[in-house]
Amino acid sequence: MHRTGPIVELVSTISDAAETIQQLDTSQLVKHLVAAIGADSVKSGRLDQHLYAKDASVLRGTSSVVTLPRCTADVQAIVRTCTANGFSFVARGSGTGLAGGAVPLDNAVIIATARMNAVEEVDVENGFAWVQPGVLNLDLSRALLPYGRHFAPDPSSQQACSIGGNVANNSGGPHCLAYGVTSAHVLAIEVVMADGETVMLGGLDAEPSGYDLRGLFVGSEGTLGVATRIAVRLTPNPPIVKTLLLDFVQPNDGAATVSSIIAAGVVPAALEMMDQRAVEVVEAFANAGYPTDAGAVLLVELDGMADGVAADVETVRRVAHANSVRSVRVAADDAERDLLWKGRRNAFGAVARLKPDYYLHDTVVPRTKLQEVLEKVYEIADRYELLAVNVFHAGDGNLHPILAYDSREPGVMDRVHAAGAEIVKASLDAGGVLSGEHGIGLEKRDYMPLMFTSADLAEQDRVRSVFDPADSANPMKVIPSGSRCGDFAGHTGSGHTIPEGAWV
Ligand SMILES: Cc1cc2nc3c(=O)[nH]c(=O)nc-3n(C[C@H](O)[C@H](O)[C@H](O)COP(=O)(O)OP(=O)(O)OC[C@H]3O[C@@H](n4cnc5c(N)ncnc54)[C@H](O)[C@@H]3O)c2cc1C
Repeated sequence: MHRTGPIVELVSTISDAAETIQQLDTSQLVKHLVAAIGADSVKSGRLDQHLYAKDASVLRGTSSVVTLPRCTADVQAIVRTCTANGFSFVARGSGTGLAGGAVPLDNAVIIATARMNAVEEVDVENGFAWVQPGVLNLDLSRALLPYGRHFAPDPSSQQACSIGGNVANNSGGPHCLAYGVTSAHVLAIEVVMADGETVMLGGLDAEPSGYDLRGLFVGSEGTLGVATRIAVRLTPNPPIVKTLLLDFVQPNDGAATVSSIIAAGVVPAALEMMDQRAVEVVEAFANAGYPTDAGAVLLVELDGMADGVAADVETVRRVAHANSVRSVRVAADDAERDLLWKGRRNAFGAVARLKPDYYLHDTVVPRTKLQEVLEKVYEIADRYELLAVNVFHAGDGNLHPILAYDSREPGVMDRVHAAGAEIVKASLDAGGVLSGEHGIGLEKRDYMPLMFTSADLAEQDRVRSVFDPADSANPMKVIPSGSRCGDFAGHTGSGHTIPEGAWV
């Protein structure tokens, strides 16, 4: 167990409130939940508690009971039972989040949406589909294939992550450069609030009246309630798609090409960058013909009508040559395109060829600062004796430095966390922001004061309180401790503390 970093500095204080919650009688809670939604939907064995205590980050919490609702009424019953028995709750999609957002703290009840996986309605004429939150991202686009439509946000985890998780994290993906992140693709959300009431946020009209509460909910990371039905926007499949692989000897030429492509007036559907280490591990895995001696490669995807795409291919080619590209490969057919994307999409897993473990960071920097911050990332990783691998959404300036390590090495996690903190600060110093798409969750919660004043944070906490005055929905996430008037250091708005060992 390793305990460093800003969150862990708070660990030593155990609040009376947290102790009280842990003393509550879980067996009574289980009885009430079983009565409300049936025994088949309630799991309280140690294995279930253990499995659901983590997401894809390095954080681990403690859950009391895991619930598997099938419909909105089940979620309402769970939330009401939790509130009546003094338990908080955490919505969970597939647990692929990388910021600890779905990690349960203080024995929270897990509301796992895996069984709420129906595509309820597809309305092609009006351009929307109603889905339950547990539908997997890729399953939705597969279900839309016969209609010539897809769901545009495509996180690299799209085979596994849920639409509810995408909404809660306002997720992005390679194709969000031109199409926009999740918030641009959600029309309406049915939400079970912390008091058990169900509300509809947003609407199917082009311009719903009133405040944009739908926009507020998207990206709220489970802290404003549980999304139980979502109306998503359908995006027509483009008639022509071209995928290009640009190969550079010098990484800074690749980075300069990213800004120059956009400056030339082309906004590619996707514009991804991989550094030399990433290319090596990806090629060993995918055999896609990536040039393993390249300093960096860019994967550029252009889509639209045939003439426009052909013109854009030529513009990208011209810009790349002006920046000393070594070769430009245009995928000849869908099979070759799939192969190139297979490498990119599986890049994180391929890092296992270097080291058994990795910590994936997510920050954003201005596109023009990409190379400067990348160099800083390598310098930081070298200093902490870690291997840095970079695979990222370059068009958005969304960096994903991967720190590869072997967790069996004594003391290595302290170095990983210290290096990560320096990377976050270097990104902010370059004019960037804390997260491009993975969210704040628990991981970046205590970095929030680096970006926001205490007045900003207090206002954000007030917004949260309007939805959830008792902090029952995913407590201790996003907003740092001490943000609410009257709070004291080491505690969240609810008076809970971060439990010992949240970092592993
Ligand atoms: C290999 C890999 C690649 C990735 N690539 C990308 C990428 O390209 N782009 C990107 O944006 N992310 C990426 N991610 C991160 C992650 O997949 C996304 O954040 C995803 O949207 C999380 O979905 P999930 O269903 O797993 O959510 P979970 O991890 O289960 O939960 C995430 C958050 O959403 C909340 N939540 C879940 N369901 C609901 C609901 N119904 N109502 C309210 N709140 C809810 C949870 O409480 C939590 O705060 C990647 C992760 C991995 C492991």
